[in-house]
Order: sequence, then structure tokens, then C-alpha cells
Amino acid sequence: MIEWVPKTKLGVLVAEKKITTIHDALESGYPLKEWQIVDMLIPNLVDNVLDINMVQRMTDSGRRTKFAVTVVVGNGDGIVGIGRGKAKETGIAINKALIDAKLHIIEIKRGCGSWQCGCGEPHTLPFKVVGKSGSVEVVLNPAPRGVGLAVSDVAKPILHLAGIFDAWELSKGHTKTTVNFAYSVFNALQATAISKMGSSLESKLKIREGISEKCTLTEEELKAKSENANKGNKTRRGR
Ligand SMILES: [Zn+2]
Repeated sequence: MIEWVPKTKLGVLVAEKKITTIHDALESGYPLKEWQIVDMLIPNLVDNVLDINMVQRMTDSGRRTKFAVTVVVGNGDGIVGIGRGKAKETGIAINKALIDAKLHIIEIKRGCGSWQCGCGEPHTLPFKVVGKSGSVEVVLNPAPRGVGLAVSDVAKPILHLAGIFDAWELSKGHTKTTVNFAYSVFNALQATAISKMGSSLESKLKIREGISEKCTLTEEELKAKSENANKGNKTRRGR
């Protein structure tokens, strides 16, 4: 690991081990500006490149090509982040997107969520959530255990990395735009955390926030699953 000299208040607290969980870091009220914080607190984070978009522009000096990359990160257990990066080289763009995703990490709420199930484990969404980005609107619904991810190819790796293993999806708008689609799914997941339910109802419904430590997938299994999920939609040419 590269030596890291923290530059922010939150960075110092994490480096000095005064904050030791991502939950406490996100609840601290200090802005998350250093990706190293996320690396330290979530060592088992897995990433997945959702989209590489080639952007070409004509300038006075000729044609300029850039790559815009969208990356999702997650631990397969209640933590997920999404980010974008742009650069002349794909490798650099991926790195930028990865850092952006780490800095936009959130804790989501999960639950059993489906009256048809009642198993009590946090395997699906706690309730119906809606997310929007651009013209795309995504509705994610809780599903009983065993349904799997009855969702689109872009949503699959995001939900896997977030630790949602059963869900139904409905979407509207220009769903071919991978970036907006991905951000809609992320925004829907973010909506799980902003629940208007009281804590007593939440505990009755077995809703859990963030890491449950009941996740049975290893890092390798998670990586394989999330990579299988978005085979075939990795590269798309843009304008
Ligand atoms: Zn269940």
C-alpha cells in the first residue's frame, strides 16, 4: 500500500483509527474527499466498469478523442458507489472514475421487503424505491428470495455490488443511455436510506442499514457475479 498522508479532518481521524467503520465515517458530517479513506475502511471493495464511451470532438487542431468511463464499486453487503471519469486514455479514465465512485459511496438499506417471502434476511430492497437521472426513471421492487435479479443488464452489477440479490425492475425513458440508467439505479438505492418509516416499524420489517456481515459471497465470487452480469455491454460508442 502506498503511504498516505491525510489532508482532511476525516482522513486524519481514519488514519489515527479514531474512526474505524465506513458507517461512522459517513455519519461524521465531515466531507469524504480522500479515496484512501474508503480503501482503508472497506478493504474488500470490488469494482466493475459499466460503460466506456468514446467521445470525439473536432477542434481547430483536428479530431480529439476522449473516453468517458462509468464505474460502480461495492462490497456486496450494503455499500455501493458510482463514479465517472474522462481522459484521453481509457486506463486513466477508469482510474478517475474509480476514485469518483469511492468518493460517492453510500450505505443502503436492505430488508426482506416482500410479503411473499418473510424470511427476515436482508436479501432485497426494504420497500419500493424510485430513482431518476436525465430522462430515465427506474423503479426497483422487493422480490422474494430465489427470484434473483429480474432487472436490466446495467442494473444487475450495481445491485450485486450493493448486496441486493432479489429484485424486480420497471423503467421508463431513454434506457439505452447506460450512464443515466446506471445513475437512476444508484439514485433508487440511495432512496432506500431516506426512509420515512419509524425505527420500530423498520425493526419489525427486519430492515438493515449498511453492512450486515451476513453476506456469504467471497470477494472473488462477487467479482465473478458482477462481471458476468454486464457481459456484452461494456463498450459503447458515443458521438
Ligand atoms: Zn425474504
